[in-house]
Amino acid sequence: MKVNCPYCSGEIRIEYEGELDEDECHARECRHCGKTFSYRLCLSVEITDVSQAPCLNDGPHTWQPFRRVIRCNWVNMQRCKHCGIEEEVP
Ligand SMILES: [Zn+2]
Ligand SMILES: [Zn+2]
Repeated sequence: MKVNCPYCSGEIRIEYEGELDEDECHARECRHCGKTFSYRLCLSVEITDVSQAPCLNDGPHTWQPFRRVIRCNWVNMQRCKHCGIEEEVP
């Protein structure tokens, strides 16, 4: 992660070591100007599985079959892998 020093705008690399607490204030000395500034760590949520979603653009759903117990019976279901809607297979 990189931040810019609030004093001199110099770029500073901050290594995430897996033990920094989110929302806690950390202090760091700028190696460019020698001033100390503080920052908060805000871990951004990673977005994965970005894919086209035809059914959200007037296209067909992409059904994936699965089974679920409804009222003690196994029922064949299908779920769209893009928008997540589910329906019983007729
Ligand atoms: Zn600086
Ligand atoms: Zn869909």
